[in-house]
Amino acid sequence: MIRAYLSIGANLGDARASCLQAAGALDRLEQSRLVERSGLYRTEPVGVRDQPDFVNLAVCIQTGLDPRPLLERLQALERELGRVPSRRWGPRAIDLDLLLYGERVIQEPDLVVPHPRMHERRFVLAPLAEIAPRAVHPLLGRTVGELLAGLAAGGGAVERIEGEPA
Ligand code: ADP
Ligand code: MG
Repeated sequence: MIRAYLSIGANLGDARASCLQAAGALDRLEQSRLVERSGLYRTEPVGVRDQPDFVNLAVCIQTGLDPRPLLERLQALERELGRVPSRRWGPRAIDLDLLLYGERVIQEPDLVVPHPRMHERRFVLAPLAEIAPRAVHPLLGRTVGELLAGLAAGGGAVERIEGEPA
């Protein structure tokens, strides 16, 4: 079993409910269980700014699934939770990203781990640091806590809105 860290985000429909639903579904994933989840965060969109705020959180699962089958399950779950194709970085009912898979490094066209933008995104690092401040980014050789502390000021604002499951 490997510890994998995932980022969950949404900004269409009832984003908070969709995020919590996704976290619940991850606990029921085959060969996997939810180990930890961060609180919920309200975050300003980055990149494409003209869209609603997001709700984001991070979770840790313990899983026997290899990275690719895991990614396929995440994509199936996105479809189940009502995601329709849209522009990159645009609004979405749910987004599930694989951030870290143990300390594995994967560089394939459609699967890159660690997630290639996690280290520069406060909306990813802030929730992740809540549950895994000492997890190590295997390419940068720095912990999640260090990466968060090293972020330049600015970027999209990130506000914790909730602690425990509703
Ligand atoms: P983003 O989450 O960057 O806004 P999308 O969710 O629309 O973008 O991107 C999905 C694509 O990213 C998928 O086709 C998937 O194959 C690819 N991808 C590559 N690495 C990862 C990863 N670590 N986690 C999730 N998707 C990934
Ligand atoms: Mg994604």
